[in-house]
Amino acid sequence: MEKKRVLITTLGCKVNQYESAVLAGLFKKRGYQVVESGNIADVYIINTCTVTHLSDRKSRQLIRRAVTANREAFIAVTGCYAQVAPDKVLEIPGVDLIVGTKDRYKLVDLVERAIKGRGQVNAVRNYKVDEEFEEDSTLPLQERTRAFLKIQDGCNNFCTYCIIPFTRGPRRSRQPLKVIENAHMLVAAGFKEIVLTGIHIGAYGNDLAGDVTLAGLFSQLAAIPGLLRLRLGSIEPNDITPELVNTLSSSPIFCRHLHVPLQSGDDQVLQRMGRQYTTSEYNRLINVLRQNIPGLGLSTDIMVGFPGETSEQFDNTCRFIKRIAFSRLHVFKYSPRQGTPAANFLNQVEPPVKEERSHELIKMGHQLASKFATSFIGQDLEVLVERLLEGRGNNYEGFTGNYVRSVFPGDEGLCGKIVVFRAEKVRGATLEGKVTGLRY
Ligand code: SF4
Repeated sequence: MEKKRVLITTLGCKVNQYESAVLAGLFKKRGYQVVESGNIADVYIINTCTVTHLSDRKSRQLIRRAVTANREAFIAVTGCYAQVAPDKVLEIPGVDLIVGTKDRYKLVDLVERAIKGRGQVNAVRNYKVDEEFEEDSTLPLQERTRAFLKIQDGCNNFCTYCIIPFTRGPRRSRQPLKVIENAHMLVAAGFKEIVLTGIHIGAYGNDLAGDVTLAGLFSQLAAIPGLLRLRLGSIEPNDITPELVNTLSSSPIFCRHLHVPLQSGDDQVLQRMGRQYTTSEYNRLINVLRQNIPGLGLSTDIMVGFPGETSEQFDNTCRFIKRIAFSRLHVFKYSPRQGTPAANFLNQVEPPVKEERSHELIKMGHQLASKFATSFIGQDLEVLVERLLEGRGNNYEGFTGNYVRSVFPGDEGLCGKIVVFRAEKVRGATLEGKVTGLRY
């Protein structure tokens, strides 16, 4: 009998990407053929996002595209948009099943039951306060040389602009033994680098019995034979404890890069956002990190156009960003999310002003990233080789530990290896050079 084909399309963050990779593993385990986008499928899974109004629009577009791609197919919608706007999703003709951010790993059963059943199925469930981490030990189907490993879900911070606590529920951590077990499976599958990801990874362990911390988990993972690189996903400033700094700075396999969301460089805006730090506290933290972790790559998220943000406050943000000299900026325009406090704040900023401020910061981000990359010219750096660059002859790309993209001549045999890369010049924010040796 011909295998059923399933196509999983994903929007949004690394956690959503990870969950889709686990879903692919689950469908494959149940005998489905997981097909790439552009192919026709019998079952379409759309893993949605709702972090901005644009994500909502893209989610609806992807759903409609799946419906028209194969009118006979079964359409299931999951993810954050499905969790907060089930009625809107169910209004889209052709949707057969909707599952929110809970029970995602039960999707194969829910799909097969719904196929046998009649009519549309709404399986979205609301979160309880004492929610457990949704565990599944299926190895995620990840194509890349670097593997993501989800260790935590949910958030209790309720920053005034953020919809995530409403879509993903209360914070909850994965049991350390389950994380370590999965990490062993990833190393056995050939992954050299693991990225610890979650919604609020800095809160890892706070909800578990005993003295469970991110620093403790990191040390246990770093002891796994064959794991050559361990990277942290985005981490909140307040969660970077002296214990964690000590653990990271003394670990030979820690990838020297941290993504620490700042959001604004103005204290009044930070306060209205409900962020639990001031710019001077953030600055002090960065000084401690740089003193303890030389060569640290430091990236961040900045939101422009938060309600009430004046041009003076925006200027404060620009000055502060230049002072910290980040290695990379992720710039977001504030997008009112229904149900969040900031959506009802007065003095919403006009879209053209948001656009202008966003452009200014994106330009500044390119300059800072180029400046950071330039500081490594002439040095030998370790790079994990990822892939051949389409249309660039035999040029391959990879990333340094501190997350600088690097390009160099190579061959297929280098993929998945850690090489010694001599940085010779910069193009934009990318280092170019040559491989001078093999590290692992
Ligand atoms: S820390 Fe704030 S911005 Fe981040 S997920 Fe939680 S509520 Fe959202």
